[in-house]
Amino acid sequence: MEKPVVVIGSGAGGLPSATAIVEQGYDVVLIERGAAVSHSSSKINQYNFEVSPLPWPTHEHEWSGENQLQRVIALGGSTLRYQAVAHLPSQATVQKWGLDTKTFYKTAYEVKSFLAISGHNTPHHPLNRFSQHLFNTAQKLGWEVSPTQAAILSKPHSSRPACNHCGMCVFGCLPNDKTTTANSWLPRANKTGRLKILTDSKAIKLNLGNKSTCESVDIERQNRKERIPAQAIVLSAGALETPYLLKKSQQTLAPNGIGNKNIGRHLIETNIQSQILLGNNDIENAHAGIPIDLVVKQFEKEGVLLYQGRNLAGIVGPVSLAKYYALHEGPENIRRWMQSHYKRVGVIAAMMEVGGSRYDQIDFNKKSFSFNKTEREKQNEAFVSSLLKRWQKASGFKSLWQESFRYSQNSGAMLRGSCRMGKDPNKSAVNLSGKLHDYNNIFVSDASILNPGLIAHPSLTLQILGFSIGQSVAKLLKGQKPT
Ligand SMILES: Cc1cc2nc3c(=O)[nH]c(=O)nc-3n(C[C@H](O)[C@H](O)[C@H](O)COP(=O)(O)OP(=O)(O)OC[C@H]3O[C@@H](n4cnc5c(N)ncnc54)[C@H](O)[C@@H]3O)c2cc1C
Repeated sequence: MEKPVVVIGSGAGGLPSATAIVEQGYDVVLIERGAAVSHSSSKINQYNFEVSPLPWPTHEHEWSGENQLQRVIALGGSTLRYQAVAHLPSQATVQKWGLDTKTFYKTAYEVKSFLAISGHNTPHHPLNRFSQHLFNTAQKLGWEVSPTQAAILSKPHSSRPACNHCGMCVFGCLPNDKTTTANSWLPRANKTGRLKILTDSKAIKLNLGNKSTCESVDIERQNRKERIPAQAIVLSAGALETPYLLKKSQQTLAPNGIGNKNIGRHLIETNIQSQILLGNNDIENAHAGIPIDLVVKQFEKEGVLLYQGRNLAGIVGPVSLAKYYALHEGPENIRRWMQSHYKRVGVIAAMMEVGGSRYDQIDFNKKSFSFNKTEREKQNEAFVSSLLKRWQKASGFKSLWQESFRYSQNSGAMLRGSCRMGKDPNKSAVNLSGKLHDYNNIFVSDASILNPGLIAHPSLTLQILGFSIGQSVAKLLKGQKPT
């Protein structure tokens, strides 16, 4: 019998790859470290949802860094927790990455249609009054502003309902209108009958048959070790776990682990600088909507995306907002303050890339990661602050709590770039088809492969690249040249 293709990880990169491979007639074994968690496990219908444990574990206790790592361990990966903003790289960025723009945007169109991205083939989500005001302000400033496109249904689709605009997406989506890889790609791949899923199974080592070919993967499952034979491997365990797995696959044929010197280098993150605003008295329901309502692309060329949304400073409900109040104004009258302010508070934010140009920000032995701000990044921060200030001043909305208060931190959610894609093996870890340089059948399709230039919100790009990489794997197995 033919050996299966093994895909490791079921997040934004993994499940689209698995789908492309099974649809081309090959069997896939999907190894997922976490469990299959139903959308009905979300606790957002309970009064204490904000302080309840999340429905899935995250990596935060395993990897240490300056910011908390929010990545999810479950079938569907971090798409279970994400806010579903659907962003695409600019044409100039795709070109810089060395990819064929025509092919990239053609696949992007197909993937966006399949996912029913709002604002693509379905309507945008309506803006609440707070967002509408910030939208009008941005237009008056002459900025290119639009409602965000999101992988959140604005119309019913494939037996799932339209969004109820509760805005609590990061706690899981109880009605199931947020699109995750588990409720989109997974059912599509299952239809072929060629996908076998091993949940609660952790990949721990790739085994080489010769210097450039992987022949099996070792996994841990129910406290037992198993060996899964493979005719090809797609690694999609995330930007920290994928290089970790390659580095830790030390063996006689690869004494320092698998892959070239660029495995684990060039880690990139998204820094978020936010300002919390209080709308005027006529504003209501600023909390209702999707978590991030607006995007301003005016400054994309300068490496900055501006957003407006409630979640952007970590405000995901009344408890998180009350924490800010307690921190800045003391605990008196907190109930009265919340009653008069809760529905008038919103956030504007700027996202920019950090990292990517330096080496060795991941310590694989200590399982830690770090970023040191460059002079250019510090200057960019100042530029970003001035943009936020301009938007706030022009809106006429008050800045909470002081003029100078801004929340700035790395996302802990959008790590990428640690097995960079490119033509030149001296500068990259995988080629433009996602295959490890110098290896025959080992591919990477998660956030590790991204180069600088995206700024933020990698999940849609990953689904496009993941699907294309899956097609390349199938081509290779058919003896054709991968694209
Ligand atoms: C709170 C939050 C908000 C976000 N908001 C947005 C947004 O609005 N828009 C956007 O585009 N992106 C957003 N993101 C980022 C986005 O979710 C990630 O960039 C994307 O999911 C990364 O995809 P991935 O395939 O690299 O990793 P993941 O989606 O994290 O998938 C990795 C998978 O591999 C599994 N795994 C790990 N190690 C192993 C192992 N050894 N063996 C087997 N399985 C393993 C994990 O359990 C997981 O399922 C957000 C993320 C978070 C956490």
